[in-house]
Amino acid sequence: MNFFPRALENQWICKSLNFVSMKKMKALVKARPEKGLWMQEVPVPEPGLNDVIIKVGKSAICGTDLHIYEWDAWSQKTIHTPMVIGHEYMGYIEKMGAGVTNLKIGERVTGEGHLACGHCRNCRRGKEHVCENTVGIGVHIDGSFAEYLKIPAKNVIPLDPRIPDEWAAIMDPFGNATHTALSFPLIGEDVLITGSGLIGSMAIAIAKFAGARFIVASDLSDSRLEIAKKMGATLTVNPSKGEKISDAVKKLGMRGFDIGLEMSGSPKAFVEMLSNMYNGSSISLLGILPSNFEVPWSDIIFKAITLKGIYGREMWETWYKMEQMIIGGIDLNPVITHRFPIDDFTVSLSMIFRRVLMSWRKAIVEKSS
Ligand code: ZN
Repeated sequence: MNFFPRALENQWICKSLNFVSMKKMKALVKARPEKGLWMQEVPVPEPGLNDVIIKVGKSAICGTDLHIYEWDAWSQKTIHTPMVIGHEYMGYIEKMGAGVTNLKIGERVTGEGHLACGHCRNCRRGKEHVCENTVGIGVHIDGSFAEYLKIPAKNVIPLDPRIPDEWAAIMDPFGNATHTALSFPLIGEDVLITGSGLIGSMAIAIAKFAGARFIVASDLSDSRLEIAKKMGATLTVNPSKGEKISDAVKKLGMRGFDIGLEMSGSPKAFVEMLSNMYNGSSISLLGILPSNFEVPWSDIIFKAITLKGIYGREMWETWYKMEQMIIGGIDLNPVITHRFPIDDFTVSLSMIFRRVLMSWRKAIVEKSS
């Protein structure tokens, strides 16, 4: 997840409005500017006029959380400690501000993790997902690795009873996958997905659900490619074992891919994708590619390829699409590989992070009550 630099300016405004009570709760806090995370007692947030307080039921760990744990260059630039992190969750509405009229106490919900300003040029023209003042929950303001979370009522997503709790907790990354995969029509198309981590795997299921013909997924990890097959990949390619995407193209009798979903952030994967795209094809870019590497522009120009950068989820179209795919029978179960009670999480934090880092799979953290 990357954030627009302007978002940083808003943090202090948000913090100054963060009225708190004396009641305490447990929270995973980036307490200090160094590697690590600490379970601490922090004040339970109180809602402002248009806010809700959500009692968190289940949380999921995102790659962003791992970056913050590791305290890498991005985190050092972005995070102001102390900060409660986390932004993938589901829970129940515990409390609401007096101005909230469209929600109910006890309602089962999740939430959009990007807060749009509502007044910039993009917000005013209905493009809140590219708001120039985006603030990230668990990045710029306190997040969901806590017993209670405060968010604006506008960002609350009430959950259809047919959406299981565990899937509700991963709707944030499922939304990234949905936004990326459904950026171009998929019915009858041949789709290449480079990078089959959590989001790539979910994109496979979405492409299949949306009627793609062949779906080829690449990754350097065989265990991730096993999940890719369960999610509906026609063929998988592991370049670390000398396998080539071009061989998959030949095997399936194609001329090239109509749609590319770049989820790996790997220049090698992107270059191989470009060389295997069909004339007039389209590519969505979600993986964060490095700023400086040699791009074969002639492939893009002479094949007339359309490129689209993807940021977050469209507000709120992506959420409606996700809800309908889940109700319509898409299966996300294979991507959830580990489940921990929150108290075990504190004991084995470093182990969990190492495991999740290596496998790029999703761990669901359940709050023991
Ligand atoms: Zn805005």
